[in-house]
Amino acid sequence: MVIHGLLAASLAMTALPATDVQAEINCSRVKCLALTFDDGPSVYTPKLLDLLKKERVKATFFLVGAQVEKYPSIVRREAAEGHAIGNHTYSHPSLPTLLDNEILDEIHTTQELIRQQTGKLPTMFRPPYGATDDRVLGLAGSQDMSQVLWTGTTLDWSLRNVEKIKAAVLRLAKRDGVLLMHDVVPQTVQAMPAIIKELKKHGYHLVTVPTLLRGKGMEAGVSYP
Ligand SMILES: [Zn+2]
Repeated sequence: MVIHGLLAASLAMTALPATDVQAEINCSRVKCLALTFDDGPSVYTPKLLDLLKKERVKATFFLVGAQVEKYPSIVRREAAEGHAIGNHTYSHPSLPTLLDNEILDEIHTTQELIRQQTGKLPTMFRPPYGATDDRVLGLAGSQDMSQVLWTGTTLDWSLRNVEKIKAAVLRLAKRDGVLLMHDVVPQTVQAMPAIIKELKKHGYHLVTVPTLLRGKGMEAGVSYP
């Protein structure tokens, strides 16, 4: 952090480092949208990360613990490149059907797997299928996590078509929106260059969920957006 501070000071009047661009975005003043990718990491994720880096776009990844075990280096890369990371359980069950200790086990295992790679415990939780209730929300809250749902779901896992996924994203895009996609769907990753180009043309700043909600704060045990 000391190096970071020195860098920031020496670069104050010049270009900011890429990782600081996000910190400068105030979503109460500009049009923001959060792209979120669930169920990864997958073999398609590195290509998505390459694109996000080139376009200087930050996204939010809700990771499945079993995938974190398979692709730990991709998780480290997501964190290192400034993307936000949330917990999407270990085995992707529908949580309201499980017992408290089973739900906590799904959450804990994944928290620990992510912490091992990034050094940080996630503070965002997204229930698989968006299936949740007050009990699930309370259990997530007991683990110091906010619940993050979405304003629009692209149904990319069902569409499996580049043009249709692009059309769905553009139809669902709105200021302060949170869009649900999946980086395990190859067509989603293939559609992203055109999607990002179009969203930028419409004036969107593509930000992480914490950046989007920064002004409002994110509390544990509360559901967003
Ligand atoms: Zn999912």
